[in-house]
Amino acid sequence: MNTINRYDLGLEYVKITLLGTGTSQGVPVIGCKCDVCTSGDVRDNRLRTSILIEVRDVSVVVDTGPDFRVQMLREDVCSLDAIVYTHEHKDHLAGMDDVRAFNQIHNRAMEVWANKDVEKALRRDFFYAFGDTKEGGLPQVNINSLGSKEESNGFIIKGVEWTLLPVKHYNMDVYGFRVGDFAYVTDVNFIPDSTYEKLDGVKVLVISALRKEWHQSHFSLDEVLEVVERVKPEATYLTHLSHLIGKHEDLQAELPEGVFVGWDGCVIENLKKEATDG
Ligand SMILES: [Zn+2]
Ligand SMILES: [Zn+2]
Repeated sequence: MNTINRYDLGLEYVKITLLGTGTSQGVPVIGCKCDVCTSGDVRDNRLRTSILIEVRDVSVVVDTGPDFRVQMLREDVCSLDAIVYTHEHKDHLAGMDDVRAFNQIHNRAMEVWANKDVEKALRRDFFYAFGDTKEGGLPQVNINSLGSKEESNGFIIKGVEWTLLPVKHYNMDVYGFRVGDFAYVTDVNFIPDSTYEKLDGVKVLVISALRKEWHQSHFSLDEVLEVVERVKPEATYLTHLSHLIGKHEDLQAELPEGVFVGWDGCVIENLKKEATDG
């Protein structure tokens, strides 16, 4: 599946790759023999949710789940400028140790953007990376704090502007992100009005839709379709999908026009192609 989907995202060159589109356990789920977990359709294999956003020559990954290494190898990512975190759940952090490869490639610490709670979790789960001694082979990160007063609206990575989209994941604060007219919001069950305002004019939205049944901390499919009605993007791609939502093909057939089931490796590009070597 290497269909490329093009939209006018209001920036000179943008390439977005869905690195993983599965919920915390991934799909297939270990030991599960359901129709989805045993499906022969490669689109029903979902690594943990993450995304690669490339604007000009600036590459950023949002979240490093347990599948980070496999995702970097699959997409042949040879250079990475920064990692941005949505929230501190393990399925979004667990692969951070593998930034070591990029530390070696670039010979510097990885620039990381994280809110206070994510920073706390990183310092706890990867305590060995934050000690006084800098032994060779340890992951090196330089944490920039997200959502501090000076940067409550967003931040800039190598000249690329990122707008913060604060949302709720039950009682947890999560950041979605807007880059140009592209927006990414995962692990959400409530979007405040102030964030809807920041979503105004978004052309492509990638948003999590766990399953059809109600869930305490994730939007169900119907709830996501209400968000789509309100934001009115040209295209919406669903991510963070559970095996319970059904097979890719069956689910796609049920969705309204302009709403697509995301899949691992799905690429979304800007219309203007000429600046690719910028
Ligand atoms: Zn998650
Ligand atoms: Zn989560």
